[in-house]
Amino acid sequence: MYLSIFLTTACIIFYQYQLSKANLMPSGNVDHIDNEIPPPPLYIITPTYKRPEQVAEITRLGYTLKHIPNIFWLVIEDATLQTPQLTRQLKRIGIPFEHLTAPMPNKFKKNKVKPRGVSNRNRGLDWIRANATDGVFYFADDDNTYDLQIFHEMRYTKKVSMWPVGLVTKYGLSSPIVRKGKLDGFYDGWIGGRKYPVDMAGFAVNVQFFLSRPKAEMPYKPGYEEDGFLKSLAPLNNTEIELLASQCTEVLTWHTQTKKNQPASNLDLKKYNGTNLVKLRDMIV
Ligand code: UDP
Ligand code: MN
Repeated sequence: MYLSIFLTTACIIFYQYQLSKANLMPSGNVDHIDNEIPPPPLYIITPTYKRPEQVAEITRLGYTLKHIPNIFWLVIEDATLQTPQLTRQLKRIGIPFEHLTAPMPNKFKKNKVKPRGVSNRNRGLDWIRANATDGVFYFADDDNTYDLQIFHEMRYTKKVSMWPVGLVTKYGLSSPIVRKGKLDGFYDGWIGGRKYPVDMAGFAVNVQFFLSRPKAEMPYKPGYEEDGFLKSLAPLNNTEIELLASQCTEVLTWHTQTKKNQPASNLDLKKYNGTNLVKLRDMIV
């Protein structure tokens, strides 16, 4: 009698334990929820600049990144001064971050097509050289869309990993071409003589590999930023490029673009002094 009660109780406890474990483990990811070793650090380099959409974009990206363990977010503004609303929001999101500034050099500001986000990303690379010793880094623009799965995969990159990016050019896609399990060129609506016709959102780099290439940096060359940076990592054989997202058969990142908004017009203080609108005005970038 007592034995059967004991056995039944033990069975129920074991069953509940299995259930709770199943709930904790999101399907298909290779993360470390059930073992003790923390995953290698993942550095996210995000260029950003002051505009009406800035805090909204950073909020969306930040709460995506918040799901990822052992992450460090380098948010680098194309500006000489930090935007206070951005600093405030970064603290509020609550993941480890550094808010840096790196203005675009004046000589490029006059260009019709500007090298957007290059000074920021190079500042991020300098930070990695000065502070990081292992792990992986990834350039995540503030306005793109990221499936969590890609972060879990990219953080084990040995040298350089690549995967497809949605919403790029007339093909709606930019991707490595995989034939018989091997990298066999690139699919992108604009090749432009590039060795690596890939999108910024479509590759990650190992920190130690990067540190072994002291001259690696991103060129101020619109359209050729990814290509120039990847070429600066030479020597890198195509066979060493790791193909993620199930051998490049899934789209886990998208090059989304946000509609531009008009800058907010001034608040009429004669009319609205003493109201909530005075405080709200300071929230607007
Ligand atoms: N960016 C920047 N300075 C600029 C324009 C853009 O730092 O003057 C950043 C922007 O926040 C984004 C990245 O650089 O993270 C790419 O810019 P954008 O999204 O405008 O380029 P697109 O996606 O249209 O190529
Ligand atoms: Mn963009």
